[in-house]
Amino acid sequence: MLETDYDIKKMTSFRIGGKIARMYFPASIEEFVEIIEKEPDAFVGGNFSNILVSSDGYDGAVICTKRIDTIKFDGNIVTAGAGVRGTKLSKLALEKELSGLEFMIAFPGSVGGEVFMNAGAHGQMIADVLKSARVYCPDKGVVTLNNSDMEFSYRTSICQRKPYSVLEAEFVLISSTKDNIQERMDENLSFRQNKQPSLTLPNCGSTFRNPEGDSAGRLLDEAGVKGLKIGGAHVWENHANFIINDGDATSLDILSLMDEMHSRVKDKFNIELKPEVRYLGGKNEKEVEICRKLNLI
Ligand SMILES: Cc1cc2nc3c(=O)[nH]c(=O)nc-3n(C[C@H](O)[C@H](O)[C@H](O)COP(=O)(O)OP(=O)(O)OC[C@H]3O[C@@H](n4cnc5c(N)ncnc54)[C@H](O)[C@@H]3O)c2cc1C
Repeated sequence: MLETDYDIKKMTSFRIGGKIARMYFPASIEEFVEIIEKEPDAFVGGNFSNILVSSDGYDGAVICTKRIDTIKFDGNIVTAGAGVRGTKLSKLALEKELSGLEFMIAFPGSVGGEVFMNAGAHGQMIADVLKSARVYCPDKGVVTLNNSDMEFSYRTSICQRKPYSVLEAEFVLISSTKDNIQERMDENLSFRQNKQPSLTLPNCGSTFRNPEGDSAGRLLDEAGVKGLKIGGAHVWENHANFIINDGDATSLDILSLMDEMHSRVKDKFNIELKPEVRYLGGKNEKEVEICRKLNLI
């Protein structure tokens, strides 16, 4: 399925983003491959909960995996399509009394985006449970990579260094009881209250990655950025590593705020924070300039 001039704003967790020239929604791996072979430069996205899309839109093609959503349980192994929501998968694993995906309950990613990011929370992450991933590689087609091929480390995987698209992932879980799994999920969710904004305050999760041995939130807090406001965006008062769209923020507002946050930490601690949030755009010169400075493109 192809939509032209697709208004992506309603899909992104930041509620920001202009028109996408060509937006594809393949319903299977085979369809995905057909599209990417025709559009080799397409940007691949899942649930758009970690992407700032430019308010000026994007002139190229985007493939959204949300319709690649098959789920198959086989004993303690679950195979899920790239577009499956992590929250849905963790709830199904709870029903099957399988533990390992409790962390997914806490944030709005898709399986593909979570593998790409090696997403994690509360002491669990993708790298701990992934057995293998089916990945599209431009030079080889669809291949299966084992966990050890994925080059996982903190919030990164091989897919960030090579143009690999995640199509499906296989996770190995362990038998547990509903009570134990539910308890861990509840702990994850209650920990977040007041420490992370819910999606009723449009945001994109952590803005910057934690530098080794430190916390981006602590550095930003001490650099005095809480409450800082540019245009329609501000730094959340409860945690300095989150930016909230107050309703009418543009992508340039967000990037300008990120630039200011980055500069304040650099000035005070001589530490260059690296963005965790990703960027899709490139038409607006001011945005491109900030993105280059922050190593976002
Ligand atoms: C309120 C909130 C809380 C959050 N808390 C956490 C947290 O605790 N821990 C955490 O790790 N993250 C957290 N996040 C961030 C985000 O949910 C994760 O990074 C998630 O993994 C992104 O998944 P997605 O499907 O939304 O990816 P997208 O935002 O769609 O994409 C993110 C990146 O992954 C790439 N990508 C997406 N799908 C694929 C694919 N199939 N193949 C190849 N590349 C792909 C995109 O190109 C992009 O570069 C939070 C976000 C929000 C809004």
